Amino acid sequence: MQMPTVYLKPREEIRIRAGHPWIYDNEIARVAGSPEPGQEVAVLDASQAMVGCGFFSPASKIRVRIYSRAKARVPADKAFFVEAFASASAYRSRVLDPGTSCFRLAYGEADSLPGLIVDSFSGVSDSGPGRWLSVQFLGMGVERKKSLIVDALEESFSPNGIIERSDAPVRSMEGLEPSSALLRGEVPGSITIEENGCVFSIDLSAGQKTGWYLDQRDNRAAAARYARGSRVLDAFCNQGGFGINCLKGGASSVLALDSSPEALAAAALNARLNGFSERHSILEANAFDALRDLERTQEKFDLVILDPPAFAKSKQSVEPARRGYREINLRGMRLLKRGGILVTCSCSHWFDNTRFDAVLEEAAADCGRRFRILEERTQAKDHPIISGYAESRYLKCRILEML
Ligand code: SAH
Repeated sequence: MQMPTVYLKPREEIRIRAGHPWIYDNEIARVAGSPEPGQEVAVLDASQAMVGCGFFSPASKIRVRIYSRAKARVPADKAFFVEAFASASAYRSRVLDPGTSCFRLAYGEADSLPGLIVDSFSGVSDSGPGRWLSVQFLGMGVERKKSLIVDALEESFSPNGIIERSDAPVRSMEGLEPSSALLRGEVPGSITIEENGCVFSIDLSAGQKTGWYLDQRDNRAAAARYARGSRVLDAFCNQGGFGINCLKGGASSVLALDSSPEALAAAALNARLNGFSERHSILEANAFDALRDLERTQEKFDLVILDPPAFAKSKQSVEPARRGYREINLRGMRLLKRGGILVTCSCSHWFDNTRFDAVLEEAAADCGRRFRILEERTQAKDHPIISGYAESRYLKCRILEML
């Protein structure tokens, strides 16, 4: 097969061979041929040895994203995607708890499918049994191959519908416009899914990201194990996931806080669907203000959950992010009763484990309290962490008990 070739500068293959999937523009010595945006290229090191194949992206600083590490030139054709989906699916069958009906089926580079996110949702009850895929095309390569990928998804999984939710800001770094559309079949306005024994009504076309934050599934179950009899604050609740899991776990009440009225309406609906309306209330506010106000009125909780959006979206924003994490964690800690539990998360890869744990130590010191570290958790296994690819390790969840 005709495939243009990208030659790396000396030693630039080391990081790639160690597992990293991105080749930056300044690591390339020369390009032989004239690859089109998104086209497959063969990547060779300075001694002409094959490193792998990747998608070429002329507009991005990440010039090539590796999808194959074979020694041969592997085209990213339909057969390639069918095989990649089979392997991604087999991995999930192996690691997910039996009965997990909604999960991330393909997680981009971590599944050797650069730029492609596929979330799989199976419906229960009113929406009828069915399976829907919510897909993000976040790189030039998968954008170019969109129709072939959708064919491969249909062939592999026979879903009732496939919806595109490529409305993520990272697309602009590849020179791509946001794009959301129904790609195949039908997707109802809302579907009812099951998670950890709770049900949630979600809207795949309008919810944040792909419609539901699947990466927190196991952390929600973990939080619920401490919830019995607790008064819970679920800050940055989105559609109510943590709080409703806690109510299922026997919480006496949940205050669900978010700045998005749409998310809160969904959270209230979800509380009702589970029969928890009487123990569930919502508060629309900026969490930074609301946590301060709750402290001022001397509110106290047995369990506080903090699951903010990524404060550090780049290396440059690590410092402002530190201040943000420190402030909400300090405020969250001050709202806890003695012996209370803090479930605190950060989903920013740039703000790594060391930084996050340091912020928690500082906040605890500022609060004048010590904490017992009960659990150090990360993302659910359908969001795999790959050696040599630090960006794949992004979610941190700590469960702390105030002493
Ligand atoms: N805990 C959720 C996911 C949280 S995503 C779950 O388990 O599914 C982060 C949420 O924070 C989003 O719903 C977003 O609307 C909300 N958010 C962002 N900035 C906020 C702010 N300053 N105050 C309150 N909520 C905020």
